[in-house]
Amino acid sequence: MGYDYDDQNIFAKILRGEIPNDTVYEDDFALAFRDIQPQAPDHVLVIPKGPYVNQDHFAAEATDAEIVGFTRAIGKVCAAMGVTPGAGGMGYRMIANAGEAGVQEVPHLHVHILSGRMLGRMVKRFD
Ligand code: 5GP
Repeated sequence: MGYDYDDQNIFAKILRGEIPNDTVYEDDFALAFRDIQPQAPDHVLVIPKGPYVNQDHFAAEATDAEIVGFTRAIGKVCAAMGVTPGAGGMGYRMIANAGEAGVQEVPHLHVHILSGRMLGRMVKRFD
């Protein structure tokens, strides 16, 4: 399966420093910054530094080091936000949208970390 990464997407521009961001955390593998249109009092996006379209692309083609580094970075972002449940935080929701049904708008893998209020059920029921 081929993945066509568009290096002109907005998060690629943020990674290159062409567009400013409100950074929460950064290391060799990931950049975390506040969402420009927050859906909760705390809404942070975590993106890998490599050029991956979505989680499927990342799982298929990222190196083991990138996958481990990104996963650990998400934990560090939650700690930096003070939301880690095992460390006295109130908890959070982690969302990664992919493709059409997931309504992914920016084609660079990103994980949303939402917290700061009770978030309710995961998605609306569709009876
Ligand atoms: P998606 O729908 O792709 O899962 O989420 C994309 C997210 O990126 C949205 O929540 C949107 O508010 C956020 N976003 C889009 N453009 C920018 C930007 O230029 N800066 C920041 N910080 N967030 C952005």
